[in-house]
Amino acid sequence: MKPAEVLKEVAGQVTVCEKCVLHFSRKRAVPGEGPANSRMMFIGEGPGFYENEQGRPFVGAAGNFLSELLSKIGLKREQVFITNVVKCRPPGNRDPLPEELGACGDYLERQIEAINPRVIVTLGRYSMARFQPMAKISDIHGQASWVHGRLIVAMYHPAAALHQPSLRPILERDFMKLPEYVQQAERARPTETVHKQPKPDEPEPLQKDDPKQLSLF
Ligand code: URA
Ligand code: SF4
Repeated sequence: MKPAEVLKEVAGQVTVCEKCVLHFSRKRAVPGEGPANSRMMFIGEGPGFYENEQGRPFVGAAGNFLSELLSKIGLKREQVFITNVVKCRPPGNRDPLPEELGACGDYLERQIEAINPRVIVTLGRYSMARFQPMAKISDIHGQASWVHGRLIVAMYHPAAALHQPSLRPILERDFMKLPEYVQQAERARPTETVHKQPKPDEPEPLQKDDPKQLSLF
């Protein structure tokens, strides 16, 4: 299956999923959105009030701030893939429970496999913990680490910076490092295809010097 088809299949399954209790209280599940060949993927915590209403990730105040941060590095939100560790809103925006994270994890895994992003940016602690369970955000924010062959960058959650203004310049500085991290990841696997093992009937994946790809930065 082509990456875009996998994403579509996952989104369809998430929309009707009843694998954990969060399905009882959700209005709309939020699979995530963005191009299948995104070089960066942003993973937040879970849908909030507005996301639950609209079925789209990061559409509230934190989402506006995320768009602002992306624009500072020359990107529109439509150019990156944005999703969450749980796809349905925890009631009252409570933290997701281990069993909910466990039940939902497979969807995220399939999205990551399909997109095969150069860099994964985690927004918030549950998202960070999925890749770096022992880490402390105050120690590692803005730093890139290789985890299972992918470059992972943990960042403070944009909502945290809205509540705590001192985090704002930190988040802005961390975002400014992302273009360099993408290039670093690109150098580390330069000729590797954007998507693994294309089937014979699939078009050639975009090459490194494809202008469509380079136009991102
Ligand atoms: N906060 C998140 O972590 N995810 C969203 O989708 C919106 C707000
Ligand atoms: Fe299914 Fe994930 Fe929603 Fe739970 S949070 S019902 S596992 S889509």
